[in-house]
Amino acid sequence: MAQESTDKLIREDFDAGPSSYDEIIPGLFLGNLTAATDIEWLREAKINYILTVDSCPLPRKIQELLPNLTIKYIQVTDMPREDLLTHFEDSYEFIDHTLQVNDKILVHCYFGVSRSATIVIAYLMKKYGKSFIDTFEAVREKRRFVGPNAGFLAQLKLYEAMGFGIDNTNVQFKMYRLQIAADKVRKAKILPQNCAELIKPDPALATVRPEPTVYRCKKCRRIVASASNILPHMPKEKQIWRHISSKKTSKQSKSSHEPLGPLERNKEEQQPVEFCTKILFVEPLAWMPDITHNVEGKLNCPKCSTKLGSFSWIAGSQCPCGSKIAPAFYLVPSKVDWSNAVQNVQVTV
Ligand SMILES: [Zn+2]
Ligand SMILES: [Zn+2]
Repeated sequence: MAQESTDKLIREDFDAGPSSYDEIIPGLFLGNLTAATDIEWLREAKINYILTVDSCPLPRKIQELLPNLTIKYIQVTDMPREDLLTHFEDSYEFIDHTLQVNDKILVHCYFGVSRSATIVIAYLMKKYGKSFIDTFEAVREKRRFVGPNAGFLAQLKLYEAMGFGIDNTNVQFKMYRLQIAADKVRKAKILPQNCAELIKPDPALATVRPEPTVYRCKKCRRIVASASNILPHMPKEKQIWRHISSKKTSKQSKSSHEPLGPLERNKEEQQPVEFCTKILFVEPLAWMPDITHNVEGKLNCPKCSTKLGSFSWIAGSQCPCGSKIAPAFYLVPSKVDWSNAVQNVQVTV
């Protein structure tokens, strides 16, 4: 796959242009594939670590020519729906380790514009506790044409919203992960095993710290969702997780009386926000038997079989408010009641 001519390595699809790199902070370089295969420059610059964020790994030969080199490889294409966010923590550790031991690192993708820039921006955001926009500007001062694609921009903003870490209770992050899983369902027609953790335990069977606020089947009273399973959306919202920034500017009136869990308030404004209650979008739950091997279908009460809602991994669902949510797992509000389990002691299941 790779061939050597003097000290240059050539990849078959090699067309990244001339070597291009910039030192963003001391020891941290951001560049293109040509730079990452320029043995002479890597030697001169004393680069001992490379973080490859590309669809192909670097030619193996490079390791023979530079035996001290440590390479970390993240396989991603430059598509908006690619997941870089769940690699931010790993790549942070890798970059930070290098700089801590006073070594030098090159983070690269094909052109050094989108994927690798995203990883570098995420690193600097966390390292200095700075906002996405400030960090983006600072990196652009060093490398003027950096430009993460639209999906990566949203992932960086979500990373900021989660306090530069992964917050599994964050509703946007939940939606983000569901979208990644939906892309896999689209290809495989079943939910891959490594996405199984997205399916939350049956709230009716929760014995450890059961949540006080639950939704029950109106007909048989079986618990079908806990408040924390609800994925709240605002009227006319599209693709929940991509719209974090729009929440900041929207003027919201009184909160709905429906229990929507701890995320019902916009933390930045400390103001209640009004979520749509026409459809209850929920996380996928263990009592939904068909969701791992069907692309779409009905959601029936596991006790009395009343139809409570539907699910659709790929097409998603349109709420009467105009919101389009995909993937979607939803309960129709007229089929369920919410109740406080503490006051409402009932035997279920
Ligand atoms: Zn029922
Ligand atoms: Zn709605």
